[in-house]
Amino acid sequence: MMKKISLSNLVKNSGSIDEYDPNSMDFHSAKKWIAQFVEPIRKKEVIRIDNSLGRILFADIKSESNVPNYDNSSMDGYAINFSQKEIYNFNVIGSDFAGSLKNFEIKNGEALEIMTGGKIPKGTSAVVPIELVNIYKNTIQIKTLPKYNTNIRKIGTDIHKGQIILNAGKYLRPAEIGLLASLGVGNVSVFKKLKIAYFSTGDEIIEVGKPLKLGQVYDSNYYSIGALLKSLHIEKIDFRNVPDKKEKIKQNLIKAAQIADLIITSGGVSVGKADFVKEVLSEIGEILFWKLAIKPGRPLAYGKINHTHFFGLPGNPVSAIVTFYQIVLPAIKNLMGNTNYHPPPTFKVKSNGRILKKPGRMEFQRGMLIQEKNDWIVNPILNQGSGNLSSMTESNCFIVLNSEQGTIDKGEMVDVQYMGGIVD
Ligand code: AMP
Ligand code: MG
Repeated sequence: MMKKISLSNLVKNSGSIDEYDPNSMDFHSAKKWIAQFVEPIRKKEVIRIDNSLGRILFADIKSESNVPNYDNSSMDGYAINFSQKEIYNFNVIGSDFAGSLKNFEIKNGEALEIMTGGKIPKGTSAVVPIELVNIYKNTIQIKTLPKYNTNIRKIGTDIHKGQIILNAGKYLRPAEIGLLASLGVGNVSVFKKLKIAYFSTGDEIIEVGKPLKLGQVYDSNYYSIGALLKSLHIEKIDFRNVPDKKEKIKQNLIKAAQIADLIITSGGVSVGKADFVKEVLSEIGEILFWKLAIKPGRPLAYGKINHTHFFGLPGNPVSAIVTFYQIVLPAIKNLMGNTNYHPPPTFKVKSNGRILKKPGRMEFQRGMLIQEKNDWIVNPILNQGSGNLSSMTESNCFIVLNSEQGTIDKGEMVDVQYMGGIVD
């Protein structure tokens, strides 16, 4: 089991911890270690619920009222009073409609016409739906007596006053926002937006719109990671692109660490001559690991500069997105205060093709989950190259293969993780 340890102590005394290997960290250990070091940044702000989609609740929400806040009818029909004796004919004394503020009372043998949501009059034994009633002028007749309280939604049965209805750390989806509104809560206290600084590195990286010379590539990571960040409702601090110069990378990292909660870079963490990110980070901060035993995404760094967390993503566009989803996203969720976040589950389906794999690294291959008759099956994407972004655009799931796994034949079962979700 891992002991609670600070990152700087871990890095200083790493020899004493057997399972720690910054040169080839396995996926699960990396996630566990990171989870130890990322605590929610506890700053709050109060915002209107209209603007709260995708934000994280800072404190528990207690209901100040009962839902429903009055006994009401769950049917269109008649409220009847048979409290004194078994009767089948009732005098209709009037009509009530949802939203009416009148207070009716019915006595034994009386009925009130009532709509769904209408306030149950005093003296009601039960509500009978309109379909079970014969109507004669001002009288109604029923064949069988309902049980007491049938078709009555009692006060406080959904939510009672004082009950905690949403816990701190909850991610606000449309349903949560509706629930808050249903309780009359118009303003809500949420975690402040996380400040994330991002820059791409690489002398060969060119901004979109400029002409591309031989040997240059457009900065796609800036846009794909930028879009990922946008979907997370954070505050992005833009450092654009930093050239492969050690001093430049250092200056930018120091500046970013002064203003951001988290820094994300892409490129420059492998072992090439121009890969300075790791080197600079070990001078001005601490690095937990710089290589992960996964594919794609082997060069991936996590560390800290003072209080600011740091992720160095691989430069390869697919690796950058895959490591973001698999490693960075859960860490961001934690920092944002969304402590009950769980990554989408994996489940087993039949592979509709052969999947090439060598044992040794965990892989997140890309696949297309499709329905065939009543079964879901996965079509592995053929070109799994880590620079081939279309392997991402043509897929809707990851095929998750553990590190010992070898090649998989067509028809074998594999774990898949669907990339989309119905609400968030
Ligand atoms: P690096 O991790 O810096 O060695 O980069 C690995 C590969 O990814 C190289 O082929 C780079 O040209 C490419 N790459 C690095 N950064 C980006 C970027 N921001 N957008 C597109 N490709 C990139
Ligand atoms: Mg580079």
